[in-house]
Amino acid sequence: MDLAVAAVGGAGAAPQHQQIRDEVAEKCQKLFLDFLEEFQNSDGEVKYLRDAEELIRPERNTLIVSFADLEQFNQQLSTTIQEEFYRVYPYLCRATKTFARDHGNVPANKDFYVAFQDLPTRHKIRELTSAKIGSLLRISGQVVRTHPVHPELVSGTFLCLDCQTVIKDVEQQFKYTLPNICRNPVCANRRRFLLDTNKSRFVDFQKVRIQETQGELPRGSIPRSVEVILRAEAVESAQAGDKCDFTGSLIVVPDVSQLSTPGLLILVASRRPSRSCCELLS
Ligand SMILES: [Zn+2]
Repeated sequence: MDLAVAAVGGAGAAPQHQQIRDEVAEKCQKLFLDFLEEFQNSDGEVKYLRDAEELIRPERNTLIVSFADLEQFNQQLSTTIQEEFYRVYPYLCRATKTFARDHGNVPANKDFYVAFQDLPTRHKIRELTSAKIGSLLRISGQVVRTHPVHPELVSGTFLCLDCQTVIKDVEQQFKYTLPNICRNPVCANRRRFLLDTNKSRFVDFQKVRIQETQGELPRGSIPRSVEVILRAEAVESAQAGDKCDFTGSLIVVPDVSQLSTPGLLILVASRRPSRSCCELLS
């Protein structure tokens, strides 16, 4: 797959209103949906169908997918997802939502998430370098601290305080993000907006700190640690003292005051008692 990003917009649209289309990510979304719809277990059943049907339950929102299955289904797709994870992740979640809605009566405004497990390579905390930012990684470590779970704003609905226009679907990126400008073409407000929490979307969010285990520590070294962000069903899945694998992506947090340390590892992880898995997102 090439990495072209195509900019498309309606004829005559002002540049600031152009939508950027990411064709690679859209292709991943389609192929990932094909994978969910078609991949069969050894009994010839569609493997992820039953799991998708479970997502109808109000407390469920995360589909756990084996990366080994994905590799078996489509090597190129799995490579693209691994290398471009941060970029394509929202599209994989959209495919998951489509799959869940096609096989269950789920509310239209419910968000779904995907978490990968069985990633073949496991990295150590001290191997996390900037070259790995954005790719899908599996790391191991011991949980040394957990923070309380709180809601994180995913997508905001705002009311313009000048003209009362409602502005929906303002995506949030690690910090509280207002609309750039009111969508009412005759209103120039860029600052005075009120968040409508009832019409905005949130996800559970938890920060934990993990540290190198004694076994992987080079002789004479002090253990290194990293912050991990768990989202969705991954929250409350790890307790202090647990040795876990986390799967997700390393990100750089642009506004450190919002999220503590730079070089944060963000994962939407879901650790299961027997098979550890997580999804680091960011
Ligand atoms: Zn306005």
